[in-house]
Amino acid sequence: MLILSLTMSMTKRKPGNAEVIVGPMFSGKSEELIRRLRRAKIARQKLQVFKPQVDDRYSKNKVVSHVGNEFNATPIDDIQKVYELLADDTTVVAIDEAQFFDWKVADVVQDLVERGIRVIIAGLDMDFRGEPFGPIPILLTQAEDVQKLTAICIVCGDEATRTQRLIDGRPARSDDPIILVGGTEEYQARCRWHHEVPTERV
Ligand code: ADP
Repeated sequence: MLILSLTMSMTKRKPGNAEVIVGPMFSGKSEELIRRLRRAKIARQKLQVFKPQVDDRYSKNKVVSHVGNEFNATPIDDIQKVYELLADDTTVVAIDEAQFFDWKVADVVQDLVERGIRVIIAGLDMDFRGEPFGPIPILLTQAEDVQKLTAICIVCGDEATRTQRLIDGRPARSDDPIILVGGTEEYQARCRWHHEVPTERV
């Protein structure tokens, strides 16, 4: 038994783990991600943070929370770029706004974890229609640790689990374009009761 476990420890590296932080907009995902990264830095871990190139809400090369906390991040247009950019001594990898990556992100995360890396992923679990967002469901399934955060519903003050999309002040329809040309767009945190996705024009 001892020989077996000695042989295993020589041939197999101890895996890392995958942590997923989800919730609607304004639920504090970026704050929580930044908190974990700060702690990892104090623990002298070597960190690398990635975000999709599409997300330039506040900054192209930073994770920025709604209250202004920030952490440097490398924007990438394809999750496979992680392999080109990964340093040999990196022990913690963070991926913000993971909903915007394609399904390959799940394989990359599994692979990094197998290499012994701690991977922290943050993203929206639902899109503005309340549908599962991109690769997040599979990441949730694979993760060792899941934290589902809530925001405050802007209408009633209850716990908000959903993101309301408004176009020119009106709830966006399920078939409204994802990329809006002209008009103003706004997002709010709302509870299930006050989340509106009209299907017919009024
Ligand atoms: P996320 O990354 O989930 O969008 P952030 O970490 O960027 O969230 O921001 C969370 C912060 O947003 C909160 O700590 C709070 O100060 C602020 N905030 C603004 N609107 C709301 C809301 N409706 N509910 C909760 N927090 C809100």
